[in-house]
Amino acid sequence: MQPAPTPDGPTPDSPTPAGPTPAGTGQAGRRRTGRTATAPAPSDRPGQPGQSNQPGQSGQAGQAGQAGASAGSDSGSGVDSGRQGIADVLALFRRNAALTRAEVMNQSGLARSTVTQRLAALLDSGLIAPAGESASTGGRRPEQFAFHARGGMLLVCDTGASGLRAAVCDLSGEVLLERTAAINIADGPGPVLDLVGRIFADLRREVFATPELAGQVGPRVCGVAMSVPGPVEFDAGRAVSPPIMTGWDGFGIGDHLSERYGCPVVVDNDVNVMALGEQRACFPEVEHLLMVKAGTGVGSGIVNEGRILRGADGAAGDIGHLPASVPGDTDPPACRCGNIGCVEAYAGGWALARDLAAQGFDVPTVDHVVALVRAGEPAAVQLARQAGRLLGEAIAGAVSLLNPSVVVLGGQLATADEQVLAGVRERVYQRSLPLATRNLTITRTRLGPRGGLTGLAHLLTDTIFAPSQIHLMLTPH
Ligand SMILES: [Zn+2]
Repeated sequence: MQPAPTPDGPTPDSPTPAGPTPAGTGQAGRRRTGRTATAPAPSDRPGQPGQSNQPGQSGQAGQAGQAGASAGSDSGSGVDSGRQGIADVLALFRRNAALTRAEVMNQSGLARSTVTQRLAALLDSGLIAPAGESASTGGRRPEQFAFHARGGMLLVCDTGASGLRAAVCDLSGEVLLERTAAINIADGPGPVLDLVGRIFADLRREVFATPELAGQVGPRVCGVAMSVPGPVEFDAGRAVSPPIMTGWDGFGIGDHLSERYGCPVVVDNDVNVMALGEQRACFPEVEHLLMVKAGTGVGSGIVNEGRILRGADGAAGDIGHLPASVPGDTDPPACRCGNIGCVEAYAGGWALARDLAAQGFDVPTVDHVVALVRAGEPAAVQLARQAGRLLGEAIAGAVSLLNPSVVVLGGQLATADEQVLAGVRERVYQRSLPLATRNLTITRTRLGPRGGLTGLAHLLTDTIFAPSQIHLMLTPH
């Protein structure tokens, strides 16, 4: 996926308190995909536009739930060889534009009868579709098949403290339609998830009302993914002691969504999915990437060997709550987490707003802080530079521990001023070992506010097409 210009909706960073707005007040962006498979929609078309439940999947709903935990660990035991085989053949189609039966046999090493069986299962389920004839051989031209990205849809929602960005994607993860809306995450799961549900329903209706999409995209919802601005127990799909998400602690977000949509669901931390989005879309050749988001708060996401590193309990990457020190500061500030002197308590957007307010500036939001920095207000610029150096010190520690190839900085604060990036670079190169920085790239986000959606779409396709989950995508016999 390529980054694309997007409407200036509320960003997940912005701390502006705002009540839920009716779905439909956000802006919708629209983009067509270049995928070439033009097969008819699959035969199982149980849903009508706007319905949230898919009767055709009701028998599978109980098995769906939070599906991502095993997506990265399927090569081991527990997955039967049939599922593994189907997933492997589908993976060939997802990597190639179109393949003949013979090409599938060559690339997979499978016997003709096995390939025939697996192609039949994938064709039945609408995951692949006939794609014309191969022109490359003499005699009778063999039939080709291609991944049918429009065979169903994915619903994804990147949720920040005060704004969300939701999209309907095709099965390749390509965004078909998207929308932003203002929220206050501290309203709790009830109002926020109701709004998300209404926006998903609107987006689905819009797909079927859009001439270039109607009739091309299958109505089945094949997966749902959501990110939230707090630590997530990934296997269980719930937020755990999230400092700014009042009312969400322990709430089963994954259960709620899988009950509603009857399909696999993944829930993850917002910066984790940003990290995955940047890696897959901008640095696909890189396996080790650290994403640091400096907005209202400070967080990081780690991609290790191409996968999100979550740690034992989902708390990995909490860089904003490492201890920081400012020379001469004998009274470290209190942090939102309850500790004192955290990186975020000095370098988070909320901390800069606090410090500027103490100097008499009217800065109710991080957007106001950014505006002062951009206007060259000396007090704000000085604080932004100090924030850059403190972030740099924390990132230097992370670089020494993790040895990433790329560090990506995102969030309003990190992108407000060149000096923030300069401060980070200065400290990282000063403090990390030469071996760790020899080939290190430190850069600003290229995806910007759409990075979360991109990451969610990749996380979800990784999950639903994994050998452990692929059976949920197949038409039951
Ligand atoms: Zn803290």
